[in-house]
Order: sequence, then C-alpha cells, then structure tokens
Amino acid sequence: MEWNLLEECKDAKRIGIGGHIRPDGDCVGACLSVYLYLKKCLPQAKVRVFLEKPEEIFRELAGFDEIDSSFGEEEPFDVFFVMDCADDRLGDSLKYFQAAAKRINIDHHISNKGCGDFNVIRPRIGSTCEVVYDLLEEERLDRNMAQALYTGIIHDTGIFQYSNTTPRTMEIGAKLIGYGFDFPRLIRETFYQKTYVQTQIMGRALMESIRFMNGRCIVSGVDRKTMEFYNVEPKDLGGIVNQLRNIEGIDCAIFLYQTDVLEYKVSLRTSEKVNAAEVVSHFGGGGHDRAAGCTMNGTFHDCVNNLSLHIEAQLKSEG
Ligand code: 5GP
Ligand code: MN
Repeated sequence: MEWNLLEECKDAKRIGIGGHIRPDGDCVGACLSVYLYLKKCLPQAKVRVFLEKPEEIFRELAGFDEIDSSFGEEEPFDVFFVMDCADDRLGDSLKYFQAAAKRINIDHHISNKGCGDFNVIRPRIGSTCEVVYDLLEEERLDRNMAQALYTGIIHDTGIFQYSNTTPRTMEIGAKLIGYGFDFPRLIRETFYQKTYVQTQIMGRALMESIRFMNGRCIVSGVDRKTMEFYNVEPKDLGGIVNQLRNIEGIDCAIFLYQTDVLEYKVSLRTSEKVNAAEVVSHFGGGGHDRAAGCTMNGTFHDCVNNLSLHIEAQLKSEG
C-alpha cells in the first residue's frame, strides 16, 4: 500500500463520496466500502455518500439506506472522493467535487486521465472495488465492507468470467468470502435475477437484433415507445448487450436505447478483435477494451452507421 488513504483524510471533518450516474454494482460497492471504512476508522469525521438512486437489488449492502440521492446544498467538503469515473460522469455530485478542498479520484477506466488532486487510476484492474481493496488496511476490513467490495468485483468481472479477471482478483475474492456473507445469494439476487418485464424486453431485443458485417457485428435497440409500453427504465436493460455478445461468431455487439428524440445511449461488447473503448472514444464515450459506452445523437441508423465505420476499420486492419 504505497499511498495511504486514511493518512490523506486524517484531518478532514467533512468527507464526501460520489460516483457515476446510473451507478452499477462496482460503483455502489466502491462508494459504500469506502464510506463504511472511513466511518469506522475516522469516527470524528462526518462522512456522506451521494449517488443517483441505485437499483433496489443492492439494498442489502450496509450503508445503502444512508446514500443521499437528493443532492442538496452542502458546505464544501474537506475531502471528496470520485469513485469509478472521472468528473464528467459525476452528475449532480459535480458541485461537491468542484467545491472540495481536496479531491481524490479512484477508478479503473482507461479513458480516465485522473480528475483529482490525488488519483489512483488502474486501467489494468478489473473493477474499482479491486483497486479499493488494495487501498484499505486488511485488519480494519469487516464483513459489510467485504460484501460491498465483492459486489463490485463480481459485477465488473461477470462473476470472475471476463478477461479482466486475474489470479489476484481470485485471491481477493477468496479473502472476501472468508468474511462469511451469503455470497451465493448475493450473486443470484444482484447478478442473475431479473424481473418478468426485464426478461420480456430482453427477449424482444434479442428477437429484433440484426447481424451485419458478415455476421461479425450484431445490433439491437429499444426506442422510447417500447420502453414506455413495457414500463421499463434504463436500469432494466442491463445484460442485453452481453447476451448479444455471447452469440457465436460475433466480434462486436451493440445495444442502444433511446434517451431523447434524437439521442441514444450505446453499449458495446467486443471480442479481442475490436477495441470497444477506441470505438466510443470518437463519440465522447469511455470504458474498457472489451466493454464501453457512449451517448450519441441522431436516429438509430445514424448511430449504427457512425459506429460501424470505426468497427469496420478495426476489423479490416485486424483481418
Ligand atoms: P455499459 O455498457 O455497461 O453501460 O458500460 C460499459 C463500460 O463503459 C463501463 O465501464 C462504463 O463505465 C463505461 N461507459 C459506459 N457509458 C459510458 C459513457 O457514456 N462515458 C464513459 N466515459 N464511459 C462509459
Ligand atoms: Mn467499474
């Protein structure tokens, strides 16, 4: 542990923690583990955590009910943590970040150049929670923190399945389950379980998917009308792009959902033949080599055509 997180916070009276908009398991786990850790280790400090309301599936994590999603006026924080993103995706927490005396950025996105006064950005590490694990003193970890960290690791590695899983990831996973939380239930309830409508809309998106570039790419999208019909929100669409990526012969899976009249949120999942982060970098997005995303303007077909140019260029150079 080359850099000491507690040392950095030891004189702080007010500490804030924020993460990205539409927080996923890694973001929620990273924010809550640091929150629980700081509350325990620095009892004299007031620690707060701000996030857009996370999905209810994470409600069993300790500290979940203390997450502030109202983003009210606050005195400037002595230290503000930006977790699992840079300041561009902080959403309503941005004001706390900007006003804070000291900013600390902890992340694993290759597109993040570091927005804090102190930055721990490890693009080779599979999850922000794995980065956080290395910053916390093991003797001070407890079951609740372990459960939060484990949640982030399983969500960003697809339960130790993606290529971002290393021997070290497994070692950390092994240590964490040693704290004795109910990990099979955590995996089932936060990762695999879907509601009936989530499953229905996934089925529809899979059925309407289209392959192109000689079957190496696949795309599917959901427009606003369909989302309204099924009464689903963006958070209900997770997992569709992974399912598309699982199809034999696919090097690049694209999933889009409509966010405005001429605006789509894009998710990309790729094989080693396509660098997803490179593709979305042309559209102001970010992420990782195999999984990335961005927001694009235009019709569904405009978005797909514009993405295709960059995907095709990579596939051609790859052969
Ligand atoms: P997903 O497709 O699951 O939304 O995101 C895949 C990865 O890309 C995640 O690591 C996520 O943080 C990143 N990502 C998705 N959308 C965006 C975006 O609009 N901007 C940036 N910088 N990263 C994104
Ligand atoms: Mn992450």
